[in-house]
Amino acid sequence: MEPQSASNEPRPNTSASRSAPPSTRPQHGRPSHARPSRPAGRPGTRTGRPVRHFGRPSHPPRRGKARVEHQAPTQRKQASTPIPSPAPDTVRIIPLGGVEEIGRNMTAVEFGDDIFILDCGFAFSEGETPGIDYILPNTGYLEERREKIRGLLISHGHLDHIGGIPYIIDRIGNPTIYTRKLTGMMIKKRQEEFTQTSPVNIREVEKDEVIKLGATTIRFFGVTHTVPDSMGIIIETPWGDVVFTGDIKLNHLDGEPSAEEKREFGVFKNRKVLALLMDSTNVWQPGFSIPESVVYTTLEKIIKDSKGRLVIAMFASHLERLIRVVHFAEEYGKKIVIDGRSMRTNIEIAREIGLIKYKDDTVVAVENMGQYPAERLIILATGAQGDEFASLARIGNKTHKYIRLQPTDTVVLSSSVIPGNERAVQKLKDNLSRQGAHIITYHASDVHASGHGNREEAAWIHSQIKPKFFIPVHGYHYMLRVHADLAVEMGVKPENICIPDNSSLVDIKNGEKISKHALKAPAELRVVEGHTVSELSDVLMRDRKALGQEGFCVVVATIDRRTGKLHKSPDIISRGFVYLRDNKELMDQTRLIIRKSVETSLRNPRAADLDAAREDLADAVSQFLLQRTMKRPIVIPVIVSI
Ligand SMILES: [Zn+2]
Ligand SMILES: [Zn+2]
Repeated sequence: MEPQSASNEPRPNTSASRSAPPSTRPQHGRPSHARPSRPAGRPGTRTGRPVRHFGRPSHPPRRGKARVEHQAPTQRKQASTPIPSPAPDTVRIIPLGGVEEIGRNMTAVEFGDDIFILDCGFAFSEGETPGIDYILPNTGYLEERREKIRGLLISHGHLDHIGGIPYIIDRIGNPTIYTRKLTGMMIKKRQEEFTQTSPVNIREVEKDEVIKLGATTIRFFGVTHTVPDSMGIIIETPWGDVVFTGDIKLNHLDGEPSAEEKREFGVFKNRKVLALLMDSTNVWQPGFSIPESVVYTTLEKIIKDSKGRLVIAMFASHLERLIRVVHFAEEYGKKIVIDGRSMRTNIEIAREIGLIKYKDDTVVAVENMGQYPAERLIILATGAQGDEFASLARIGNKTHKYIRLQPTDTVVLSSSVIPGNERAVQKLKDNLSRQGAHIITYHASDVHASGHGNREEAAWIHSQIKPKFFIPVHGYHYMLRVHADLAVEMGVKPENICIPDNSSLVDIKNGEKISKHALKAPAELRVVEGHTVSELSDVLMRDRKALGQEGFCVVVATIDRRTGKLHKSPDIISRGFVYLRDNKELMDQTRLIIRKSVETSLRNPRAADLDAAREDLADAVSQFLLQRTMKRPIVIPVIVSI
């Protein structure tokens, strides 16, 4: 199970209403009068301007640099109980994200005068936060201790580990980033889309390098994942090592770890490991995961034997697999079409730093595809998760500019289905099948393996590292729990395990005792919308959900300021509520309610309180509509006095 956030493609927005400003949408039930240009109302209430965000572009612009704007506070609002620094005999570990979810991985390790940060990811927004692009770890704790930060150490180049950097790095004082070559390139490439107040400093390290940050020695070790240059990190403390695995699986043959794995983990032979922080994503799955080498063998056979055109869809982040496919293509005399920006970028980066070598004419442009016989073509496509605007979806619904499927084509979905995407993927498969293409999925063939190890792989890793204390990270709480149980089986004392929540302060005192601090680091959800970083507003989310589910209704009453009587019949404008033309009677009755409410409120026009009248009007209309339709549209009351 590769997290969605591991894709380099920003997730397209699915809300159709966002693609067009309200004025260009069909306006059923629109009254004959012009709409009020600006509904009146008090800020901070539902009578504000809740529809403003409809006009927002659904994506950060792709060309040109963008500046990140910060609305989230840099100082905490109230002086709540200040969090004390760890005692001189204490190592503090603070998972800031990624331990109540898959994604936005970031953990800080603090002792003495130093803080070391491990990864800086983001998560894609789910249904709970409509309109939000990304969710960030809350770095408030670090922002208040910038002067202690000695470095940002990045385990690998997936977005759930590097995605937060452009939004966070300035806030935490632009610390130097320590990472391996490919990861550094991926960070730099991404950074090109943003203007920062100061450029990021990347210091490339190699896995067998030993560096010193302040007074602390840091080591690394190579780990197997789905992207090259993945590494684990060892921070030496006076009480032993804090070891962080990053995302990890094992390269193995029938459960026997490869010689390379044994060599990499050999580094722990004579080390005293105080605490292990380890990926928990797939530990709940039994046995060993399919090694990536099996996937390569399967793909090689498919490529070798293919008699028609081949479409292979996978995550752009599965860079090792992409590299293999390009390699096999060359070996069997085939041409590659890369259809997807993130894939092209990743392959180019890999080529630039020498991870892959191929002849220039192996990759052909999609528009020149017709010059080659079908059996010599491999199309690498994004969108195996059913993402609406990705290459494969466009092939599926016949809107792709250059690619139409033929019955002789084979589509390989070289990925698993991320929970939540099942229906989208089903629809995609239906669309592809309807055009006659043959489809190969991971259910029937080993064309995909996860980048996260199963239970037995985790057990082997525990047996190599042998930590005194254990803190599971990367995963939902249940996954962390399962991993904690495994750690006990592997010999960690139950009282030496701490399952954290986001922003928990986990203190290990004198190398002897682990405990969760009574206080928590700031934990409010920080979100990115467009290029703005802000703290998530419950009111905003509630309104958006209500707009999506119930729609809205603007009711406009024009009154005569002298008499307090309605000047003309009230106007009702609605979107997403009921189809007004089919509900004439309801609208007529609503107009009566509006008239009654306004005229009652303004019985004495001289002493009338317009704000109160608006509020009463909204209440009266909401209540009536709820009774009649069982729906609760957002009602925006407008009273115009002339
Ligand atoms: Zn990863
Ligand atoms: Zn990850």
